[in-house]
Amino acid sequence: MSSLIVIGTHVKNMLYWLTKDKFAMCSISTEKTLIQCDFDGTVTEEDVSFLILDTFARGNWRKLLEDYRKNKISVDYFNKQAFTMVRASRETLTEFVRTRAKIRCGFKELTDYCYKRGLCLVIVSNGLDFYIDVILSDAGIRNIEVFAAQTKFCHEGIEVQYIGPDGNEANKGLKELYARLFLAKGYRLIYLGNGVSDIHPARLAHHVFARDDLLSCCARENIACIPFTDFTDVVKGLKLLPQSRSNS
Ligand SMILES: [Mg+2]
Repeated sequence: MSSLIVIGTHVKNMLYWLTKDKFAMCSISTEKTLIQCDFDGTVTEEDVSFLILDTFARGNWRKLLEDYRKNKISVDYFNKQAFTMVRASRETLTEFVRTRAKIRCGFKELTDYCYKRGLCLVIVSNGLDFYIDVILSDAGIRNIEVFAAQTKFCHEGIEVQYIGPDGNEANKGLKELYARLFLAKGYRLIYLGNGVSDIHPARLAHHVFARDDLLSCCARENIACIPFTDFTDVVKGLKLLPQSRSNS
């Protein structure tokens, strides 16, 4: 079994988090720092959900995307509705993801750097747990906490469910809910992302690394951020950040 822990098995762990510091091993002597990272279009070069929907969805999922981009529906609702249009087995989609998804350059370097420095690296994604698991496992990247949508393969399409930090269904703002949890636990929060939905946790973070739409959103809202092309830029940027929030 993969050591990657996905949200499907996380409710139990969340209770553990609330009572013990699960990230004690990640603490640095001066201050606890946690890097919350988006997955689709951030860890991967392309949005894996879009690749799947473009190939397997039977229906006009792009109309839903348009509604999401116009702020008519949440990203969580968009994923739930769009994935019901997908009629394909786990095996078919796993094979597809293995051939199409590519991890952005430098991600392994980032995980190694975080491990050496004692920084917690956590993925919180609106994407689907099954493909995140496949992509990271295949790349030999293990022991990263992942909070994403639970995927259930049914005859009627793929069922997607979001579970928040409290163990209840979260239909809106998964990334922000987790960002608030990490802050409440006393972490200095560094956020990495690429999309419009990343602006909500980015607003709360102490430092932000951004590309694509998130970069534009940060500029529009006057949120200081460090642009990145790949994760080698992120590692360079992390080395230049102050060691603690008091120096930030
Ligand atoms: Mg993204």
